[in-house]
Amino acid sequence: MQYAIINKDKVDDFITRLAVQEKVYAPVARGYDNYSFEEVTSGKNVVSGRYIPTILPPKKYFMPQRETLLEYNLTEGQNMNAVVEYEKMAIFGVHTCDLAGIQAMNMVFSEKPADINYLIRKNKITIIGLECIEYCDQNASCTLVHNHLPNGGYDMFFTDIGDSFFVHVATQAGEEIIEKTKVFYDADAPHMRLLEQVRERKKKIFHDEVPIEYHELPELFQKSFDSKVWDNLDSRCIACGNCTAVCPTCYCFDVKEEPDLSLVQGKRYRIWDSCQSEPFAKVSGGESFRKMQGARQRHRYFRKFKYQFDKYSRPHCTGCGRCTRACMAKINLKETLNALIAEHA
Ligand code: SF4
Ligand code: SF4
Repeated sequence: MQYAIINKDKVDDFITRLAVQEKVYAPVARGYDNYSFEEVTSGKNVVSGRYIPTILPPKKYFMPQRETLLEYNLTEGQNMNAVVEYEKMAIFGVHTCDLAGIQAMNMVFSEKPADINYLIRKNKITIIGLECIEYCDQNASCTLVHNHLPNGGYDMFFTDIGDSFFVHVATQAGEEIIEKTKVFYDADAPHMRLLEQVRERKKKIFHDEVPIEYHELPELFQKSFDSKVWDNLDSRCIACGNCTAVCPTCYCFDVKEEPDLSLVQGKRYRIWDSCQSEPFAKVSGGESFRKMQGARQRHRYFRKFKYQFDKYSRPHCTGCGRCTRACMAKINLKETLNALIAEHA
């Protein structure tokens, strides 16, 4: 079944039945218009309608905040074991911006030398997308980066068409879910027409949020290396690292050793790190190539709109708006882009 329908009053059943088969994570409300992907065993608290992007993106399942890479025991020779921690799971309710974030991470971690831990974990995760049919809030810029419509990267994809969800079943994992949960039925021509109407309506609601074309973004940044905009960010940014922690396409990490008290056994692990923190910017000998916060912010923006765009032919900003929502200094991604555009008008 490539196109299926599930009635809205069956979504609870769907999640409950799926959770019997495997772990299920889904967006739940955490108050004050904050949402979080959490483990659920039924659809009771699951948000299947509008929600603004969760505080942390699904990257927390693909690349855990702390992850053991190696365990060693030197009691009898050099005994070291690589560790890969993973679990089979389904993530329900992934928006198109977060699907784009996962696609970006997949590209980065598949490059040689491939990141085996990430890739093994990725293969155990089933992704069930959920289309936004309203704008989440004013901080989103998903249309600018062409992420407001589905563009693959999922096993199943739900679109609200009124009393039911239209479901695109894209992979075998998706088909197996259809068979096991038994709450779906075939889509027909009237359902297709409803889907077309939803997409037509979206054209009126979702439009370019920033006055620049997608393909012009790298050129804008090419001209902007010495911009005064970075001086402005330099005076405001407090280097908390919130913007990189919440970003679905930031993946920098530090590797640390943790020997036990005997010093003969222990583990090596990695944890999220941030280009916004000073220790991360330092290299051997204590030299720092990006001493000022403005230079670190510039680097963050260039990673999203220039360097990665040049290398992978797509921006690594998904337009989710998380960095703006999480910034304690009220540094706003759309305002930064507008300021750069104004400078070069
Ligand atoms: S830079 Fe900001 S808007 Fe872009 S993907 Fe990262 S968190 Fe989302
Ligand atoms: S969240 Fe804001 S203040 Fe914190 S490092 Fe990022 S831009 Fe700077």
